[in-house]
Amino acid sequence: MSEPEIEVGMTSSAPFDRAPMAPAMRGGRASSSYDLSVTDDMDARIWERIKDHPCFSEQAHHYFARMHVAVAPACNIQCNYCNRKYDCTNESRPGVASVKLTPDQALRKVIAVASKVPELSVIGIAGPGDACYDWKKTVATFEGVAREIPDIKLCISTNGLALPDHVDELADMNVDHVTITINMVDPEVGAKIYPWILHGHRRYTGIEGARILHERQMLGLEMLTERGILTKINSVMIPGVNDTHLVEVNQWIRDRGAFMHNVVPLISKHSHGTYYGLTGQRCPEQFELKALQDCLDGNVKLMRHCQQCRADAIGLLGDDREREFALDQISTKAGYDANKREVYRKLVEHEREDQFAAKLDANKAVKSLGSSGTLVVAVATKGGGRINEHFGQVRELQLYAVSRKGINLVGHRKVLPYCLGGVGEESALDQIIVALDGIDILLSAKIGDGPKKRLAKAGVRATDAFAYAYIETAIGALYIAEFDRKPSMPTALPL
Ligand code: SF4
Ligand code: SF4
Repeated sequence: MSEPEIEVGMTSSAPFDRAPMAPAMRGGRASSSYDLSVTDDMDARIWERIKDHPCFSEQAHHYFARMHVAVAPACNIQCNYCNRKYDCTNESRPGVASVKLTPDQALRKVIAVASKVPELSVIGIAGPGDACYDWKKTVATFEGVAREIPDIKLCISTNGLALPDHVDELADMNVDHVTITINMVDPEVGAKIYPWILHGHRRYTGIEGARILHERQMLGLEMLTERGILTKINSVMIPGVNDTHLVEVNQWIRDRGAFMHNVVPLISKHSHGTYYGLTGQRCPEQFELKALQDCLDGNVKLMRHCQQCRADAIGLLGDDREREFALDQISTKAGYDANKREVYRKLVEHEREDQFAAKLDANKAVKSLGSSGTLVVAVATKGGGRINEHFGQVRELQLYAVSRKGINLVGHRKVLPYCLGGVGEESALDQIIVALDGIDILLSAKIGDGPKKRLAKAGVRATDAFAYAYIETAIGALYIAEFDRKPSMPTALPL
């Protein structure tokens, strides 16, 4: 699929939303000349394994969806940020009750979702307890799914305590992606996070419990690495408890072959009823999280697009469709229709080659400019790597930083939708403006004059001139228009 032509002019009356598109950004190259495996200098065999996994590949999350099945409610440890009445806060937003499923119910739901959501590529078990501790339900679910939909990827998330007991079975079931939540490598730090653990029919507390958990986590990680299973390590950043310590965690997991590190902010409110919530433990600020991520970058591959999903999330990351699939609405006789997913995957292959080519072109043009300028751009997107969401409907913005180093996704910001039921909501706009702190430019598929003016007053330039363009193409064009000082490249942007 080729990039859409965008009609832009350079009139001074509406300078920003008439930003010129640099000539280098307009043309597309023959898509077949690009080798997608060159992403991040990655080995082609690894790329083949992650290219459809929305969490293990940032690029894949534009195209592919995951479904969490909440079949594993039991847990063998207590985290100070978790209240069992809510979802697992490692992988879920607290306060959103999950419907717990039996393995049979989960299979019925998976078949319904796979028939209706062509983007679906991964079935994961991420709680609401621990997939390795509630092992029988995990196995029963995966066996059913693998039998009915053999091409789907299977994925689990675990606290790691029971992991070493099941690594061989995970390998036998072709589970190729495992997430372990590792918040410490020093039991003294661990004792401030885990009041108790259950191991070998005994309950351990304090430093002793944390030490056992740490040893089991490291053993499980090493065993997965030995078997070639890809591992992602989630770490919850807890200010004053383990924030600085996570640098050491990062070293330990790198030395044991982890594929990816995902540092997520603590989510903690008094209403969640957790130990941290009730004792007023603060959550990290955005800038603190970013500073830590920047400090860790360049060691183990870093995940920056995590959504801290519910344990029953369905759909593309950031676009939860769980409510469309209430169990009582799903026919007990529905069979799996593979057609939609097959057609979709073929389409994606073409689209992604085109997008990849556009991304390479945009990065090359930005880097070759050699400018010392930087921009932070917020993008409203529904996926596919394009600017394709209206400002009024966006619930989450993707943030990109662009500099002479290139164009990079640096995070997400959740926002309240400005326009619900066709009417703009001023109080929502106030909150969006707060959430846009530090952003230079906002790109969306459509934005009205009212919100555009309010954003401009707050220092954020907004435009829909790049509607449906590839994200990197648009950002590259803006960067060049803003910072190219050559006389032959006139800019319509206010500098
Ligand atoms: S591992 Fe997950 S379910 Fe268990 S206590 Fe921790 S956050 Fe809660
Ligand atoms: S919580 Fe993060 S890692 Fe887990 S499914 Fe959601 S985006 Fe992926």
